[in-house]
Amino acid sequence: MIRLGILGGGQLAQMMTQAAVSLGVETAIFERRADSPAARLTKHDVAGDWTSPQALADFIALCDVVTLENEFVDASVLERIAEAGLPVYPTAETLRRIQDKFIQKQTMDAADVPLPAFAAVDDLDAVRAFAAVHGWPLVLKARRDGYDGYGNATLRTADDLPAAWERLSAGDRALMVEAFVPFSHELAVMVLRGRDGETRLYPVVETVQKDHICHVVRAPASISPTMKQAAERIAAQAVTAVDGVGVFGVEMFALDDGRVLYNEIAPRPHNSGHYTIEACRTSQFENHIRAVLGWPLGATDMTAPYAVMVNVLGRFTGHAPAFAARDALRVPNAHVHIYSKRDVRVGRKMGHVTVTGESMEEAETAARQAADLIGL
Ligand code: ADP
Repeated sequence: MIRLGILGGGQLAQMMTQAAVSLGVETAIFERRADSPAARLTKHDVAGDWTSPQALADFIALCDVVTLENEFVDASVLERIAEAGLPVYPTAETLRRIQDKFIQKQTMDAADVPLPAFAAVDDLDAVRAFAAVHGWPLVLKARRDGYDGYGNATLRTADDLPAAWERLSAGDRALMVEAFVPFSHELAVMVLRGRDGETRLYPVVETVQKDHICHVVRAPASISPTMKQAAERIAAQAVTAVDGVGVFGVEMFALDDGRVLYNEIAPRPHNSGHYTIEACRTSQFENHIRAVLGWPLGATDMTAPYAVMVNVLGRFTGHAPAFAARDALRVPNAHVHIYSKRDVRVGRKMGHVTVTGESMEEAETAARQAADLIGL
């Protein structure tokens, strides 16, 4: 049996493992802590630091091919895996173009991907100088290791700058600044790209963020054909710009004037693509595995007119109760996914629900109802 190594053991690795089993592929998990959701699904797991030479050697010995579920792995770790002779996708070079948001945006800019004005900033004066040209509000971002908005701050005026700078740059993290985009909604496209460059797009979806965390995904997005084409063009350009292999999530802003601007790219299956498990011919997880193995890619079109995914975010802090899914199963057609995390924290991604249907409203009502009934 071929064994696919995954760097990271969270819900994305869990769902990749579920897809791998159906293809007759085993997974090996390398996560910092033991007992991660994905590690519990396989006998092959290593708990340790990704930069620990011994732990990395143990992991490499278990794998035939390697991928990741988490872009916070340092690109040099991927390089070491490649040096050991294993195919690894995304490659170290792809990750290097994405991991630092400033380099990522330079890469996209150079590839003619439309995006908001941005700059690297070394001090508060550099932010003020950027604001003098582009105006307030603006968004200050940590260049690395931000997720679910933890590395971002929206500055309405110059008065917001000192506190935001202090919070984000803690421990001398490098920062960048971006013009604030007055978007009407946010869009995302999952892009599949094979080892040979063959590219397939999943539908353009609308994502609804609350407190910078994805709450709801509506597929397909209800947008004009022109806007759809613009989003598809940006998504394909972005993945080509980083020479990606596998599945990538490309997030974008849609503006009232019809423009679409690039926001960011994730080098892996993405929350905005979870709906593909039940609503598309091939899920993002299965297609990611097919792509990184160099196997034939699967169809990406939808099998239902509409699908809505609602995230289940932790509502309390404590141990996850048994039977968390049970009550939600009373909602007809609700596909419930529980991420098997032992501890609940407020706002932590604990699971999701997808409902497909003949109308977006019905699907959304049912998905929200089921998500509310999950006891996490
Ligand atoms: P993360 O890497 O933490 O997911 P993002 O850069 O995607 O961070 O930002 C998270 C959210 O913050 C976005 O989905 C969007 O809602 C908001 N945001 C980010 N950048 C901008 C911007 N330039 N203008 C307006 N809103 C933004």
